[in-house]
Amino acid sequence: MNLDNSYARLPEGFHALVETDAVAAPSMLAWNNDLAVELGLDSLAEDEAELARIFSGASRPAGVQPIALAYAGHQFGHFVPQLGDGRAALLGEVVTDAGKRYDIQLKGSGRTPYSRGGDGKSWLGPVLREYIVSEAMHHLGVPTTRALAAVATGESVYRETAWPGAVFTRVASSHLRIGTFEYFAFRRNTDALKTLTEYAIDRHYPEAKSDEVPYVAFFRRVAERQAELIAGWMAVGFIHGVMNTDNTSISGETLDYGPAAYLDEFQFKKVFSSIDHHGRYAYANQMPIAQWNLARLAETLLLLCDARTDFEAILSGFPACYDSYYLDLMRPKFGLLKKNDGDAELISDWLNYLQDNALDYTLSFRELATRIDASDPARFGEFEQRWRQRVGNQATESAEVVALMDSVNPIFIPRNHRIEQAIQEAVAGDLTVFKDLNVVLAQPFLEQPEYAKYAEAPKPNERVIQTFCGT
Ligand code: AMP
Ligand code: MG
Repeated sequence: MNLDNSYARLPEGFHALVETDAVAAPSMLAWNNDLAVELGLDSLAEDEAELARIFSGASRPAGVQPIALAYAGHQFGHFVPQLGDGRAALLGEVVTDAGKRYDIQLKGSGRTPYSRGGDGKSWLGPVLREYIVSEAMHHLGVPTTRALAAVATGESVYRETAWPGAVFTRVASSHLRIGTFEYFAFRRNTDALKTLTEYAIDRHYPEAKSDEVPYVAFFRRVAERQAELIAGWMAVGFIHGVMNTDNTSISGETLDYGPAAYLDEFQFKKVFSSIDHHGRYAYANQMPIAQWNLARLAETLLLLCDARTDFEAILSGFPACYDSYYLDLMRPKFGLLKKNDGDAELISDWLNYLQDNALDYTLSFRELATRIDASDPARFGEFEQRWRQRVGNQATESAEVVALMDSVNPIFIPRNHRIEQAIQEAVAGDLTVFKDLNVVLAQPFLEQPEYAKYAEAPKPNERVIQTFCGT
């Protein structure tokens, strides 16, 4: 395994050297061969026993020195000056032939100096959940960290009771978070903050260097990537659930799938997370929360440059930037080929209709496409007539409109009740549902009749009411 570790070369205080636990009986639960090929790591799979040892942390490839990263963060609005990788170890970075750099990180491989009271471990549930949901997110076309491997450790992890332990391997274009900036800003360590910002610019936004004020250009790009990310979440009906600043990546990838969940029936204020009592991270709150998080990043950068006015302008332009990404993603979902003044209104009429009638967000879009030439009584009330008129005004065949809609409206999303089922059955030793979900969600827009049941919304008795942080 040929890994670089540019983060380990940053000054002391950015990270701590860690050891991963020598678990007794590691065995592979999943290996993402397609991703491994992209990363040039596929040959590792030739020795499956060694593969399980490496990606559980039981054996350390030559030249690899794992580190845990320091960061802080605002959790539910409250600042915590010291967080950090409490159950994660960065093995190093792969640099692909195309020159792209990716972190390879183990999650659940044991304690680190940042573990506080935690055990540094993961049980099977959050490992399988993140594997399914992050890969699904990727195949739905939304920026995200990826899943390379899931390994059972053969050991028990104790939460309320004993569960089978597991380790997840996450691939990310970096693990820099807003909370990393807050960590040094809180300590008024401007040298470190400067080093960090320059590192982030080099790694993610090198073009910002040639701008008049690189820090402002950097912030503008981070904000744009956040706007695009949240628009992607909203379009697929995703609720992150813990949008703390320590879970907000500088690269604009979805980071940290704890209580994350996709909507079944549509509700603007939907919350799944058991700890989000006031709905701070509710579905429709995600854009303003991203803006709030970005304001925390701007505050740290103010220690490096006197650009308050620029930061404020970028922050106040954030909703419009988000709207533009969101509308671009939503138009094709309705078969709309061109911009029109009424687009935002059409979308909000539709969402209100779904909410008032408790309809499934994902399946309703697929069903709408089937209504294009319908003449029988409307399925979607008055909305349907208006929509038909709007698509009818386009000089396009119905079949083309339907093809466009079906190419962007998924049939399959990782539904909560199926994830729960996959976890329950895996705990009992059966990985069938887990494996099925990974197959079906790799092509979410494609009819897969043999897997039709995975497209279905939960029956009332199957509904998942609450989700939990993945600790
Ligand atoms: P998260 O909710 O996953 O974003 O984690 C928030 C903080 O808690 C991070 O600093 C994690 O490293 C830490 N943490 C979560 N689970 C554990 C665990 N099992 N052991 C140690 N630290 C943990
Ligand atoms: Mg986190």
